[in-house]
Amino acid sequence: MDNPRVAVIVEDDQDIRELISVILNQSGFEVHAASTGATGVEAVRLNNPAVVTLDLGLPDIDGFEVARQIRLFSDAYIIMLTGRADEMDTLMGLETGADDYLTKPFRPRELRARISAMMRRPRFAGDGLPAAAAAAAPPAVTAPSESTSGPASGTSEGAASSQGMNSTGNGASASIPKAVNGLVLNSGDRTAEVDGTELELTRTEFDLLHALVDSGKQVRTKSDLVRRLRGEEYDVGSYISDADERTIEVHVANLRRKLGDNPREPRWIKTVRGVGYRLVH
Ligand code: CA
Repeated sequence: MDNPRVAVIVEDDQDIRELISVILNQSGFEVHAASTGATGVEAVRLNNPAVVTLDLGLPDIDGFEVARQIRLFSDAYIIMLTGRADEMDTLMGLETGADDYLTKPFRPRELRARISAMMRRPRFAGDGLPAAAAAAAPPAVTAPSESTSGPASGTSEGAASSQGMNSTGNGASASIPKAVNGLVLNSGDRTAEVDGTELELTRTEFDLLHALVDSGKQVRTKSDLVRRLRGEEYDVGSYISDADERTIEVHVANLRRKLGDNPREPRWIKTVRGVGYRLVH
């Protein structure tokens, strides 16, 4: 199982490597750093981290290939760091295996916020970890993201699965699957199926889809969705950048590709121009 206190940094720029190292150290991580893709994969294999920060442009193999190799044996959260905002465009529609993306330069607090949000979200089932890991996860850590259906929706199912999580420490038995147009979402074991075929979603993609399904016809703004991923139940005034919103677009593009959903004639996710997204009903 992943070690929740270990992080691996894969970054060829020494200054950035040291910056990330300091940030992660301050966040309580034992940090291992690598300056090439190949040594990065080895560092992940050796140290079994919970979090990997991965530079896209590396001297030997690129970040995509590193992520692919890491995903063969590790369930670590991967944050991919891109050099330029427009590189985010190339991430759309690509299977990267990353859980999140961040554009350089970034503020230390941005990286900290992303990582702590990821650590608050459930990290079990649907991504290869045994059910025992779910039971072992402290309810205080898993509960917030399960209960973030938010003031906009507040479905009773969401509340029920959240309570199940708190009382048993394992939401799998308590949650009720949700079905929309042949899509079945099970928040207990964090699985998603379309017409009976299970989807391979990243945790972020699952959480976004869950947020949209929870909201029904209600539009979720991109800022809303950023907050949801951070595990914030409502607007607590935290800073949301354009890059944060751009990241949501990348995740939604990847999600649509995996769902086989056509943005022009969506079966599930409808773009509300200039606002955000909502479910098709
Ligand atoms: Ca680089």
